Amino acid sequence: MKNTFDYVLPNEQGFFGEYGGSFIPEQLQTIIDEITAAYLEIRQDPAFVEELSELYRHYVGRPSPIFHARNLSAKYGTDIYLKREDLNHTGAHKINHCLGEALLAKKMGKQKLIAETGAGQHGVALATAAALVGLECDIYMGEVDIKKEHPNVVRMQILGAKVIPATHGRKTLKEAVDAAFEGYVKDPVTQFYAIGSVVGPHPFPMMVRDFQSIVGNEAKEQFMEMTGGLPDNIVACVGGGSNAMGIFSAFLDDKAVALHGVEPSGRNLDEDGEHAATITKGQPGIMHGFKSYMLQDAQGEPMEVYSVASGLDYPSVGPQHSYLKDLGRVQYSHINDAEAIDAFFDLSRMEGIIPAIESAHAVAHAIRMAKEGERGTILINLSGRGDKDIDFVAENYGKQYGVMNIL
Ligand SMILES: *Cc1c(COP(=O)(O)O)cnc(C)c1O
Repeated sequence: MKNTFDYVLPNEQGFFGEYGGSFIPEQLQTIIDEITAAYLEIRQDPAFVEELSELYRHYVGRPSPIFHARNLSAKYGTDIYLKREDLNHTGAHKINHCLGEALLAKKMGKQKLIAETGAGQHGVALATAAALVGLECDIYMGEVDIKKEHPNVVRMQILGAKVIPATHGRKTLKEAVDAAFEGYVKDPVTQFYAIGSVVGPHPFPMMVRDFQSIVGNEAKEQFMEMTGGLPDNIVACVGGGSNAMGIFSAFLDDKAVALHGVEPSGRNLDEDGEHAATITKGQPGIMHGFKSYMLQDAQGEPMEVYSVASGLDYPSVGPQHSYLKDLGRVQYSHINDAEAIDAFFDLSRMEGIIPAIESAHAVAHAIRMAKEGERGTILINLSGRGDKDIDFVAENYGKQYGVMNIL
């Protein structure tokens, strides 16, 4: 039996078992060590804790409610509940850690927040936090994604952020990561690289998890109050893994609560480049400054990955997930594009809630569990809302689901 301390990891070097750590150039390590020290100090500081929880309450709109999805429950024969992170300001869970990182950067005397973004969701949440806290903000984004995700580019600029195009290679997320890293190394003293999930070198997997743990802490109390007990199952989608770690963290010691992480199997789980199911198909390795399960090509480079949900297509995963997988504490499974889109419409039409396609992966898995005979309660972390996805869905799936495509 593992005791509590196995889960309140990482150790001082940032390792969750063999995963995590910090594999970065030496000159950067000094700066990152300062961030670790500042974070460890600040998280004990009652003034900081109070400031962040005030913002969660009055700015983000926390606590987000838990909703008993009765129609879905009746249809599939088991009680399904939703933790409504989609109702947060900016429409997803990402604001929880962006505010934490922005406040920390401000306290450290940094002037600018920087980050890469793929679909623009992290960019928008960070630009929002930067505007509120009073910091400059540079968002690096592939030129292809800038065209594809135009509304989010406009949002970031309205919020006062600078969007810097990455123009080399395939001009998407991977190139944006390169460009942001290059930009960061030029001036790591006045800039703060705000990582968008529980990934990257220590302390980011720990810090982002801690900021997201509000989700699990609230959910535990709310669920107890609603039902008198703990949920039998918790389901969350896993890209980098921040919304999942956020809700799982409060339940790791509750062995009666089964935890389920859902990866995207995209178009085809058996073909490289056609999915982003890192834990399901990957091997341990080192990428982006940390050790974890990852998808590599024959040259050891990050594999091209794909999912209909752009927030889930990352070729690695947070190191704590790798650790929890090896321990067997969390069950990781996968949902493909078609199943996710089906769940997207199911939730929209049965409950009047349009989920992010990322979150629809979690909904799809809960539905599958119910279909396969699960009769215990299922709490889904509904990580975000689907407004950002409606044009894409109309264009690509409209015909099939009776949505007019007039784009
Ligand atoms: C970014 C995003 C995700 C994936 O990120 P995690 O770090 O795995 O949580 C999931 N859902 C939504 C709505 C997102 O915007």
